[in-house]
Amino acid sequence: MDKIKVKLLSVTPVEVVNQAIAQPYDSEPSFELTRKVIGVKKHLSCAEHIVLNFHIEGASRAELQEHMRHRMASPTVKSTRFALGKMMQEEHLGRFFFMPDYADLQPEVAAEYVAAKEFLELQAYRAIQSLRQKGVPNDLLKYLLPESTRTAFSWSINLRSFINFLELRTSPTALNEIRYIAKLMRNEIARNDFARYVDVLLLEMGW
Ligand SMILES: Cc1cc2nc3c(=O)[nH]c(=O)nc-3n(C[C@H](O)[C@H](O)[C@H](O)COP(=O)(O)OP(=O)(O)OC[C@H]3O[C@@H](n4cnc5c(N)ncnc54)[C@H](O)[C@@H]3O)c2cc1C
Repeated sequence: MDKIKVKLLSVTPVEVVNQAIAQPYDSEPSFELTRKVIGVKKHLSCAEHIVLNFHIEGASRAELQEHMRHRMASPTVKSTRFALGKMMQEEHLGRFFFMPDYADLQPEVAAEYVAAKEFLELQAYRAIQSLRQKGVPNDLLKYLLPESTRTAFSWSINLRSFINFLELRTSPTALNEIRYIAKLMRNEIARNDFARYVDVLLLEMGW
């Protein structure tokens, strides 16, 4: 998990949002009005003016396919067609493959799980290495990649959809890895000064 990196790159400037939200009221733009309309009255269509741009690195392809189910967002993903060669330069398999938290397993089952996972990953890695040298194209090699293979993607999402994402993906029933990433995303908003007003709105709404 600790090799997963989430970075909040930017959010819509607060002035843009204040300007939009002042329109219906024909009043002076202010964050106080924005806070009331979005945070208190929960007029969430107004939250669509706020776009968050994230970069996520080191998540597994298993997590990626869950993340991509969120249609109200815009992803751009590292391509195996173009990047597999560079990815294969990574010799440390812990950086190539994601290891989920298996702490709930009985110790002897955990040992078998880790052994099976590492065996399969090593086989896949070696097969790809060997077949690449024989000129097999990445579009065929990608089918040999386990779901644990790490990837990277950029993800832009508006605040309304992000709240839906948080609601679904911080739930204890969600996959542990996406829960972890959802929390990192929320933390990034709290941590960055340029996103302070979004943090205020989320706190107001119980997030
Ligand atoms: C715990 C958990 C388990 C899951 N298990 C499965 C599973 O077993 N199999 C599986 O396939 N998926 C599964 N999912 C994925 C889930 O079904 C959703 O696809 C995913 O969470 C995206 O949610 P969303 O549709 O609300 O988000 P988005 O696609 O971002 O949509 C946001 C909102 O826009 C609206 N919207 C979007 N598209 C439409 C549309 N076409 N028509 C009407 N309204 C729309 C809806 O209000 C929606 O909530 C699971 C999700 C969770 C959290």
